[in-house]
Amino acid sequence: PLKFTKLRLQGFKSFVDPTDLIINDGLTGVVGPNGCGKSNLLEALRWVMGENRPTAMRGGGMEDVIFAGASSRPAKNFAEVSLLLDNSDRLAPQGFNETDGVEIVRRITRDVGSAYKANGKDVRARDIQMLFADASTGAHSPALVRQGQISELINAKPKARRRILEEAAGISGLYQRRHEAELK
Ligand code: ATP
Ligand code: MG
Repeated sequence: PLKFTKLRLQGFKSFVDPTDLIINDGLTGVVGPNGCGKSNLLEALRWVMGENRPTAMRGGGMEDVIFAGASSRPAKNFAEVSLLLDNSDRLAPQGFNETDGVEIVRRITRDVGSAYKANGKDVRARDIQMLFADASTGAHSPALVRQGQISELINAKPKARRRILEEAAGISGLYQRRHEAELK
């Protein structure tokens, strides 16, 4: 599987100043008081991988991820998240596989929208989504479980529950691809 080694946030939700989260081998714990930004970190991870549902970001619109201002700080005009992947085993799919480290950057600018880069080159949202749809297949998939998602799973209707489980199993990428193939 692709290993995440660093997450960098800037202007993303409560992380107004550039903040690095180094992700080492093994288990990483994030602890802190309520409201300190733990969930925001996971949302940043989800977002840089191409998440486009505002609800998954606990917002009403995509621009809600941009730092909205605080009593002492004005609002920001953009949010940027960068994710560094360890590709020393060269397991990344074609097009991302030329270097030992792959840096994915997503930036959203007010009234402009999102743009993605991979190792400094412009790429489409779709390319990033497919990169991670592939990367998350297999037993060691970096499946993300949102706060409250366990109780959602328990209370969900069968169809919705199946969708959640498929997503966690990393096979939703396969469905996306099959759907595209059927459209062709
Ligand atoms: P808990 O332990 O309660 O789950 P948490 O550590 O997960 O808390 P988060 O939900 O990640 O906390 O962070 C919430 C904080 O992020 C709130 O203070 C909220 O005001 C702030 N926040 C969210 N979006 C923005 C934004 N666009 N601009 C500024 N601050 C934001
Ligand atoms: Mg939380």
